[in-house]
Amino acid sequence: TSLDDFRREPLLFGPSPVHPLPRLSEALGGQVEIWAKREDCNSGIAFGGNKVRKLEYLVADAIDTGCDTLVSIGGIQSNHTRQVTGVACKLGLKAVTVQEGWVDYNDMCYDRVGNIQLTRIMGGDPRIDPAGFDIGYRDSWTRALDSVRESGGTPYAIPAGASDHPLGGLGFANWAREVAAQEVEHDTFFDTVVVCTVTGSTHAGMIAGFALEDRDDRRVIGIDASGTLEQTIDQVTRIATQTADRIGVGRSLRDDEITVVPGYEGPAYGVPDRGTVEAIQLVARTEGVLTDPVYEGKSMAGLIGMIRSGEIEPGSRVLYAHLGGQPALPAYAGFPGLGAP
Ligand code: PLP
Repeated sequence: TSLDDFRREPLLFGPSPVHPLPRLSEALGGQVEIWAKREDCNSGIAFGGNKVRKLEYLVADAIDTGCDTLVSIGGIQSNHTRQVTGVACKLGLKAVTVQEGWVDYNDMCYDRVGNIQLTRIMGGDPRIDPAGFDIGYRDSWTRALDSVRESGGTPYAIPAGASDHPLGGLGFANWAREVAAQEVEHDTFFDTVVVCTVTGSTHAGMIAGFALEDRDDRRVIGIDASGTLEQTIDQVTRIATQTADRIGVGRSLRDDEITVVPGYEGPAYGVPDRGTVEAIQLVARTEGVLTDPVYEGKSMAGLIGMIRSGEIEPGSRVLYAHLGGQPALPAYAGFPGLGAP
């Protein structure tokens, strides 16, 4: 099979924009050319983001199998559940989302503003659950599925981040194909792709998609943002392998195709540190590009750190995958540098 054998419900504006970040490149020594590909403005649905792209494949399956309610799970400030709810609205489906709270709120508005606020405005059904963080399956999620069935609905189960799902990697395999076409358009080649990795299918989809090109001069660097490195590497490897198989890569993935870099995750998933905040400020102040303290601030810190250390060598041309996430920013206004003086 190939990627084109899977039906895709179009939810994006088209290919997401690709553009250079010259002032950020200059601020980091001017030896590495940095570009961004913008999933944060990829769609008109609920501010867009990487999940809308993944959901193009999952909701096609939901519709084709007669489901009427998308059921998913994430944190209280989950971008994913906001996007699931938005996509459900767009397609006339319902959404039930389990929202777990593990971040020690240092802001009284944490469970009112940002993603959860948008979910409520869209008429979603967020169910707050006081459980800890896990990238796998949970009981509260199973209960949500049961409750939809009990009330006569037909649920479609979407795991955390739309990742641990047979179609989870397809959206970003398609992204890789989009990049190759945009490189031709811009007459350029990105030897390094930097992406934030948590539930894994964004990174894994890219790995599988680029594996179709079968060239060894492009590397994808995943920046860990959850501090669960072994579990994350496992999940990325599993989803990349399964996606590669589905889209007809026709060979095993090599170890060097799967790179997850620790050191930028901060104290915990969902909690920024000084490096995260400095990265958010640097890209904002040089380019006017906003990133969030949970995901992109950490992958941006990784990009900055790896350029400064020389792990991303002078002469490289980097594509930074901006996956969205800014709607969480108001919930972090209590952090110094993110709103608090
Ligand atoms: N960036 C943002 C803004 C996200 O919402 C997510 C979701 O988890 C990620 C990065 C990480 O993507 P993934 O979960 O596919 O690893």
